Amino acid sequence: MREKVACSEALPSVNNAVSSALDAINFSGFGKNDKIVIKPNVNEFQVSGTGANTSSAVIDSLVSVLIKKSPHIAIAEGTSIIGNALANFRKAGYYGIAKKYGIELIDLNKGKFRNVKIPNARVLKSARISETILNADKIVNVPVLKTHVLTTLTCALKNMKGCLHPNDKLKCHTIGLDEAIVDYNRILKPDLVLVDATTAMQGSGPHSGEKIKLDKVFAGTNSLAVDCAIAKCAGIPANKINHLNLAIKEFGIPDIEIIGERHFDLELPKKIDWLPTRLSRLAYGFTHKVLKAKLSAQRPEINLRECAKCRKCLHFCPESAFAFDNSNGFPEINERKCIRCLVCVELCPYSAIKAV
Ligand code: SF4
Ligand code: SF4
Repeated sequence: MREKVACSEALPSVNNAVSSALDAINFSGFGKNDKIVIKPNVNEFQVSGTGANTSSAVIDSLVSVLIKKSPHIAIAEGTSIIGNALANFRKAGYYGIAKKYGIELIDLNKGKFRNVKIPNARVLKSARISETILNADKIVNVPVLKTHVLTTLTCALKNMKGCLHPNDKLKCHTIGLDEAIVDYNRILKPDLVLVDATTAMQGSGPHSGEKIKLDKVFAGTNSLAVDCAIAKCAGIPANKINHLNLAIKEFGIPDIEIIGERHFDLELPKKIDWLPTRLSRLAYGFTHKVLKAKLSAQRPEINLRECAKCRKCLHFCPESAFAFDNSNGFPEINERKCIRCLVCVELCPYSAIKAV
C-alpha cells in the first residue's frame, strides 16, 4: 500500500501547516467516542521552541483540529528514568493548552503498566507498556525532529519509547538500542504521526545539539514511512540510520509518496559508532552487551567543567559504574564495570558526559 507522508511549510502559520498536512494525507478526524492519547516528545526540562521538545504551538494546532470531532483527548509523556513529565509539560507551556481545551496531561511513568509479549522480537521479547497507551482507542505520535548521538536521528520510531516502563527504557540501551526500537514498534503502532520540524535539533542531539529552524511539519500514519520520508528530505540514506535500516529489513521498505517534498540540511552527530553496532548486531542480549563493551571504539568521558555534581548518573547507569568515592564530589567511571552503552551520554542532564 502506498504510504502518504505530507510535508507542509509552517510559515506563516503553524496552524495552517498542521491542517494542510492532515488534509494532504486525507485525515478526517477520529470518532466522537474515541479516547485519544497524544504522545509528544517532552523529555527535556526546557521551554518550547528550542528544538528539544515537541513545541506547544504544534500540539495546540493539533488539538484544535482533533477536538472538533473528539472531546476525549489526553497528552501523555513518560520521560527517561531521571525526568519528570509534568514539570517538563509546565516548562514547555503545555499546561496552557490543557486549560484552553479542558484536556488532561498524564505522566506515563506514574501510571500502571502491563507486560506485553512482543512476537518475533529480536532483543526485547516483552516490555511493560503504559496502560494509558494500551487502553487508548487512538494514539497520535508527535515527535520533534532531532539528531541523536546514539541513533543518528530520533523521530517517530524512537519517540514511542516513552510508552515503556522506565526500567525497560534503560534496558533497551543494554540489549541493543537500535534493535529494541524496532521491537517495541512491532506493538506500538500509532494511528496518526505528526512530526514537529518547526524548530529541530542538529549536531549533538538529543540534549546538546543546536537548534535549527526548518519551519516544517510532517504528517503520516506509519512511523517508519514518516521517518524514511524525513531522512530522504534531509538527504540521509535510510540505511545509514541503523534502526531505520533494521526496521526496513523487518517490516519491508515502505512505498512512500511524499506530498510537498522539500529538502533541507541537517548536521549529524560527529561520531557514529558504526563498526561495533554492525558487528554486535550479529549477536543479541548478553552477548551483544559483551561484544559492545569489547568492540566499542567510543567510551564515556566526564567533562568536569560541565558536571554539576548532581549524582543522577548513580541512578541511570545500568551497570552501577559511577562512583563518588573521592573528596572533590565529582563522579568517576569504573572502566571494568562500564559496558559502553553510552546511556550516560544521553541522560546526563548537564551534557557533561561525551562519547570520545
Ligand atoms: S556527570 Fe552528569 S549526571 Fe553525573 S554528577 Fe555530573 S552532571 Fe550529574
Ligand atoms: S558509565 Fe558505562 S555502563 Fe554506565 S551508563 Fe555510561 S557507558 Fe553505560
